[in-house]
Amino acid sequence: MRNLCIVGLQWGDEGKGKIVDYYADRFHSVVRYNGGSNAGHTIVIGKKTYVFHLLPSGLLKGKRLLIGPGVAVDPQTLQEEVEMIRREGQKPNLLVDGRCTIVTPLEKEMDSFIEKLRGDRAIGTTKRGIGPSYAMRALRLTPRAGDLERGTFDLSSAMAFYRTFLKKLPSMEGWTDSAKASLKGVVGDVGEEITETNEAGHSVLFEGAQGVLLDLIHGTYPYVTGTHTLASYVPASLGIPATSLGDVMGVAKAYATRVGEGPFPTEIHGKLETLIRETGREYGATTGRPRRVGWLDLVALKYAVKMNGVSTLALTKLDILTKLKEFKVCTHYNVRGTETDVFSRALPELDSVKPVYLDLPPLYGAELTTARLHRPMEKFVEFLEDEMKVSVSIVSMGEERTATHQRAARQARA
Ligand code: GDP
Repeated sequence: MRNLCIVGLQWGDEGKGKIVDYYADRFHSVVRYNGGSNAGHTIVIGKKTYVFHLLPSGLLKGKRLLIGPGVAVDPQTLQEEVEMIRREGQKPNLLVDGRCTIVTPLEKEMDSFIEKLRGDRAIGTTKRGIGPSYAMRALRLTPRAGDLERGTFDLSSAMAFYRTFLKKLPSMEGWTDSAKASLKGVVGDVGEEITETNEAGHSVLFEGAQGVLLDLIHGTYPYVTGTHTLASYVPASLGIPATSLGDVMGVAKAYATRVGEGPFPTEIHGKLETLIRETGREYGATTGRPRRVGWLDLVALKYAVKMNGVSTLALTKLDILTKLKEFKVCTHYNVRGTETDVFSRALPELDSVKPVYLDLPPLYGAELTTARLHRPMEKFVEFLEDEMKVSVSIVSMGEERTATHQRAARQARA
C-alpha cells in the first residue's frame, strides 16, 4: 500500500485529527511534518476527548509516532502530552527528529510582543511561539532537538538578540535541563526511518497541521502560519524522495471556519453565525477562541484541491448542516464587477471580493445514518465531487470515530 498524506484544505480545524485516527490502523507509523503546538487535533472516543498539539494522532491506535524535522517542537508541550498519555497507562512509541526546531519560552514572549506591535493589524496567532521559532531558525539562532540533547548549543546569542527587543526576558532557569529530559532517548532520524519502513513494505501516514489557506507562501498572507501546509511540503521537510508522498487525502468541512484575523469572503454574521458556532462547537482547540464561521467556499476549495494534487476528499461536519434551514455554497467571486472562480486571481484583493452563492436544498432534519447516506446528503456529496473533480471517500457526521460513512468510489462527472 502507498503512503498517504492527510491535509487540511481550508483554514485548519477541518477535523484532520478524527480522520487521521480513523485511517491510522492501515499504517505502520503516523508522521507530523509541519507546524508545532499551534495545532490542536481533536479525537473523541466515547465520552473522552483528546486534544494533541504535537503528538501525531495515530497515538490512540498504538502506532509508531514520528515528529519530522519540519516541526517546531516545544519540549514543554511534548512532555505534558507524553505525561497525559502515561497517566492513561500507555507509552507513546515516539521518535523526534534531531533537526527539529526547538521553541523556547523566548519565542513565546516574542510572539506576544510582535502581535502587540502589529496593533489593529494583529494576525491573531496562538502565541505558541511557532512563527518566531521558524524565524530564529532562519537566523540560525535557535537550537535543534539534537543540539539540545547533545548539549552542543548555548542560548547566549539568542538571549542577546531578544534583549534588543524585549524589556524583560522570561525566566530560562532550569529550562535547558527539563527540555533535555523531555527529549531523552527519543531523538533520531525520522526521514531515514520512513525510508526503511517503506523498504520493509510498510506504509506511513503523513498528518498535516493547519490548512492550505494558512500556508506561508500560498495562503492569505500575512494572515497565515509560520510554515508550509501543503502536501508537497511532506518530502521536502522530511528529507524523503518526492515519490514517497503517495496519495493525498484532503479534509474539508461542509462549511467554513477561520480562527484569527484575515480575509474570509463567505463569513456569516448574526443569528446564523451563532447557531453554526454553537452547534458545531467552533471554538479553538488550542486557544478556546470562538472561530469565525461561513459558507463553504468552492473557489478556495478548488484552489486547495488542485495545489495539493488531492486524490480523494474527506468531508466533515455534515451533521451540522442538518440543523440549518438554509444551505449555500460560494461558487464564484465577484472581483470589481468581474466574476471568477480562480482563487489566486482574487487573492490580492480577497478582502473586497463579493461571494456569488448557489442555494442548495437544505439538509435540515436529514437522517444521519453511517451505513448509507440519506438521499439529499448523497446529492450534495455528488455535487461536490462533480465541482471538485475528485471523489469523496469519507463523510463524517459526528465527532466520534463511529460517526463515519465510508463511500464507495464514484466517477465524478467531467
Ligand atoms: P483539526 O485541527 O483539523 O484536527 O480539527 P480540530 O480538532 O481542531 O477541530 C475539529 C473539531 O470538530 C473537533 O472538535 C472534532 O472532534 C470535531 N469533528 C470532527 N469531525 C466532526 C463531524 O463530522 N461532526 C462534528 N459535529 N464534529 C466533528
